[in-house]
Amino acid sequence: MPKDTRKENQLLRRKLEDFMAQARQNERKLRRFQSLELNLIGLHSLYDLIKAILYPDYATFKWDIVTLILLDPEYEIQRILEEAHIDLEQHPTLMFASEREQLETLYPHSLFPTLSAYRPRKHARLFVPKTRRPASVALLPLVRHGKLIGSLNIGSCSDNRFIKGVRTDFFEHLGGVVAICLENAVNHERLKRQGLTDTLTAVNNRRFFDQRLGEEVAHATREQHPLSCLLLDIDHFKEVNDRHGHQMGDRVLMEVAALIRAQMRGNDVLARYGGEEFAALLAQTPNAAAIEVAERIRGSIAERSFSMKGEPDFSVTISIGIATLDPTSLDQARPVDGEYLVGQADKSLYDAKASGRNRVVSSGNIRLDSEWLVAG
Ligand code: GH3
Ligand code: MG
Ligand code: MG
Repeated sequence: MPKDTRKENQLLRRKLEDFMAQARQNERKLRRFQSLELNLIGLHSLYDLIKAILYPDYATFKWDIVTLILLDPEYEIQRILEEAHIDLEQHPTLMFASEREQLETLYPHSLFPTLSAYRPRKHARLFVPKTRRPASVALLPLVRHGKLIGSLNIGSCSDNRFIKGVRTDFFEHLGGVVAICLENAVNHERLKRQGLTDTLTAVNNRRFFDQRLGEEVAHATREQHPLSCLLLDIDHFKEVNDRHGHQMGDRVLMEVAALIRAQMRGNDVLARYGGEEFAALLAQTPNAAAIEVAERIRGSIAERSFSMKGEPDFSVTISIGIATLDPTSLDQARPVDGEYLVGQADKSLYDAKASGRNRVVSSGNIRLDSEWLVAG
């Protein structure tokens, strides 16, 4: 074989080997992304999904930092996570934007992933102080129905990891999957809530309360935190209906629900328990603090006056019964039943009614006695 041809052959072979190596590398990359995406698709809870997005196997991907910013104008996602007792401070790489414009400034030209060197002015707020500052970054827009719902931000400490102009097919696909999974998980939570909300007062319904009761008791017992239960019943409500009509009665119910809600923290549970009766669960609240909250609720309702055209203004009052579960004062070996807690609050409510209404009665911390011990 002539020398030239041999040289050309060697050159071609080397090129072919390079192509093969590149193809094998791409295949490995494809597998890594596919495995991450399949994992995300298989997750149903919003929190599990967010964790899987934030903490993938960094070493496999050669990523150093991942942060996620989600559009959450009505604090819906934050509320869902708080209600699941997720401490958001434990996840500083999860952030929320209250306005879509905050996200749009990240993608001024197009809704495609952008790879570039780290630029403090643009990227500092995405890579929060607690994380290491990257040298190069990949920003993946999370888009649904043509609109930004978030941004997944990946950083590397190496300045040649994410280079402007390099193809971004894998990132486009990952961004698409992440966006769909997040939207699905939020929709799923929303649907769950719709069946658990009272249509008149917009607070949760009894089904929701019963469901949460067990969870809150278990959580309080595990964390050794006090949990207070309030039962609230509007006084002489039948008379409101009789005198002013049931439509006015409905309005009173709505306003009373809003007045109760206004005195509670965002992640406390409030439900319409029956016709004109509400039930509340105050997490991490000892008995004395629950009495204070109840007094504020009672006062705010008594102060509110309702008016109807052509009739004198009127007001309503509410009676409130309280019981508190303080796990530190109980025998750990015995599980506590949420129904017993509610039952004790109901006894106090009965006492409040019997002793004249428009008052708060507390049965203090519940105690164990053999009659309400429940099998675990
Ligand atoms: P008490 O002080 O003992 O609680 O007296 P009360 O009149 O509030 O109690 P009672 O249980 O006798 O009456 C409750 C009334 O609440 C009767 C019922 O018609 C009314 N009610 C229940 N649900 C609704 C509702 O959704 N809308 C209206 N307008 N009234 C309702
Ligand atoms: Mg009543
Ligand atoms: Mg009642």
